[in-house]
Amino acid sequence: MREDGVYAAMVRRGMTRRTFLRFSAAMAAALSLPAAYGPRIAKALEAAPRVPVIWIRGQACGGNTEALLRAANPTAANLLLEVLSLDYHEELLAVAGADAASPLAGLASRYPNGYYAVLEGSFPTGAAGAYCLIGGRPAVDVAREVATGALLTLAVGSCAVDGGAPAAPGGITEAGGIGKVLTGGNFIALPGCPANPSNLAAVIVHQLVAKETMPTDLAHRPLAFYGNLIHNQCERRPHFEFGEFALEWGDQGAQRGWCLYKLGCKGPETMANCPDVRYGEKISWNVSSGVGCIGCHSPSFWGAMGPAYRRLPSPLPFLPNLTTDLVGGAMVAGIGGVAVAHGVGMTIRFKRYKAQDRRAKAKAAAEAASATETPPTAEPEAAAGTETAAAGTGER
Ligand code: SF4
Repeated sequence: MREDGVYAAMVRRGMTRRTFLRFSAAMAAALSLPAAYGPRIAKALEAAPRVPVIWIRGQACGGNTEALLRAANPTAANLLLEVLSLDYHEELLAVAGADAASPLAGLASRYPNGYYAVLEGSFPTGAAGAYCLIGGRPAVDVAREVATGALLTLAVGSCAVDGGAPAAPGGITEAGGIGKVLTGGNFIALPGCPANPSNLAAVIVHQLVAKETMPTDLAHRPLAFYGNLIHNQCERRPHFEFGEFALEWGDQGAQRGWCLYKLGCKGPETMANCPDVRYGEKISWNVSSGVGCIGCHSPSFWGAMGPAYRRLPSPLPFLPNLTTDLVGGAMVAGIGGVAVAHGVGMTIRFKRYKAQDRRAKAKAAAEAASATETPPTAEPEAAAGTETAAAGTGER
């Protein structure tokens, strides 16, 4: 066991071996790995170093920090104090003023082995960044400095990913997400309002254990968390399939736990693992609580996925019930149809070819047979010629 490592820190803080194994099992589950990977993660964490974390908050409500502090699996204490070494987080600092800003000075020399940067909130550039300052400096500049030198940067929450609410139509601060901070691609995006703390912990554990960044989609979102539609994992999906919908808040359908699609649920358009990881000590998530998904993990969701409790307009007005799921299904069905048509066409063509072949063979056989039965015509002519010659010479 490494004395300055994650496990040693956990033991020093009174964590039992059982709790540590439970934490490792929870991380395996969050990473969509089989339960058998829990002990392997525990073993790797025993040898893993604790990595310092600098958490920068721009324009935001602080919801991601709140979600983290209320997370149960892993607890905030597990994550912040043992797995990580949280060296800077404005809301959790005991000091204020110049003392609070001092850990941000000379990061490269202070952390020669590197650190992780976590960005929360959006970063405004309007009015030369004056809408959000950290230690008297534009937050966007501070975030850029911190993120540029980090081993890995995590954009946590929708505001940090694409600007979120401050960047929604009507905003005046010219806010944006990590795109305003970093030009390179060495970051992980964890959208959500808030992002799920379990996903955040799992990214960090994966980084520590596998020593590589998690596979992501083109928007830098880990595929393990954002690779599946909420609709496909939802516990109310059978009601969707049976056409059982709540039509008004509090009606019979709502009370019976029927599908919330007709009340604006964006689950069929949103990729995230909320039904699986859940929030609040893994007790619940929106749909379990009787409120539809608002699509907060989707790009630019404040502008693109609203209004929250109304269905998104269909792209085709004459098909009001059209959803991306249906479009995808239709495309798959179309491709399947083309494949079947191709197969049928090929079968017909093959049969036609075989029939032609049979006819050609039969014709050739018939010709061969008739050629065998017909007597040669050259010999009688030759005989007649002989007879004529004989008559001419008087021979009889
Ligand atoms: S529409 Fe919403 S409530 Fe209905 S099955 Fe899909 S995700 Fe669940």
